[in-house]
Amino acid sequence: MEEVESREWYLAAYAAEGVPTSDHLKLRTVTLSLSPDSIPEQHVILEILFISVEPYLRSRITGREDGLYSPQFNLDEFVARRIDPNNGIPLPEYISSIGVPGFAAWVGIELLADPKPGSNVFISAAAGAVGMCAGQLAKLRGCRVIGSTGSDEKVRLIKEEFGYDDAFNYHTETNFDAALSKYFPNGIDVYLDNVGGEMLEAALNHVNKHAKVPLCGMISGYNKVWTEREGVRNLLNLIGKEVNMQGFMVGSYVHRFGDFATEMESHLKQGKIGYSKLKIFHGIETFLESLGSLFTSSNVGKVVIQVK
Ligand code: NAP
Repeated sequence: MEEVESREWYLAAYAAEGVPTSDHLKLRTVTLSLSPDSIPEQHVILEILFISVEPYLRSRITGREDGLYSPQFNLDEFVARRIDPNNGIPLPEYISSIGVPGFAAWVGIELLADPKPGSNVFISAAAGAVGMCAGQLAKLRGCRVIGSTGSDEKVRLIKEEFGYDDAFNYHTETNFDAALSKYFPNGIDVYLDNVGGEMLEAALNHVNKHAKVPLCGMISGYNKVWTEREGVRNLLNLIGKEVNMQGFMVGSYVHRFGDFATEMESHLKQGKIGYSKLKIFHGIETFLESLGSLFTSSNVGKVVIQVK
């Protein structure tokens, strides 16, 4: 019987607040049997090459049900998508621009915002996995696209490599209302919100009549219990401006995943969308560090673990 040693992270304790630490997530070594009779009927053994590290993982280890947006993982649920490894697209793209983040960008921009050429589009966390794709999709639609992100290096990246018309560093331009007045003299037609809190509030002061605000994520609140998060005090703007603000989960659009993947593969092959900027951590043991990096501005690009 062939046995192999495998390492896995397990949840030792819930982390109600703050960035999870080694008190909450622990690495252990387990022995796996690879003999054919140890594999149940209609099951396969997969070797993990890359792991996508995503903000939603944080919300599944809080031990609370207080309005965080992701439900707990269901037991025994598994999705495996077959891809052609020889089609010229690097494998990590299948967990970035052709994976959940790219799909979230596509649902938010293509399906929900559906912007017209010339629309003024604002995207927060613009240098992240969703933001990189969303900005490029909006540019393909002929929009004027502005992003906010957490460092000057990322501001440069999204302008030079991902086609953003302009961008600002929210750590240095800390008066968001003033920044949005400067970057959106004609108001905001679409705001793809990835961060929530103060930035969402500021954006709602600049929306145009019939603006669309797809709510993709609110990462500024993920490490806080809901009573500690910044509130949005100006929802009245939604009424007077007749704004359509809509939360969404990619899981509700799986019936469109095939359309998305075909379109995105074509964009990548034609160079209409650039390959993702990746922040690659090496080895499964880096999971905790890589997860924590999502909550600082230290990571540039899509966070991925290369397992071997
Ligand atoms: P990401 O942007 O690659 O990484 C997270 C980024 O968020 C960080 O790099 C950081 O960048 C920024 N950030 C962290 N803390 C922040 C804070 N307090 N205030 C403002 N920005 C902060 O992550 P992603 O995978 O692309 O996800 C982006 C958003 O989309 C997340 O909110 C995620 O939950 C959401 N999402 C939703 C769906 C869905 O189905 N609805 C699917 C996928 C992702 P900077 O600070 O440097 O800008």
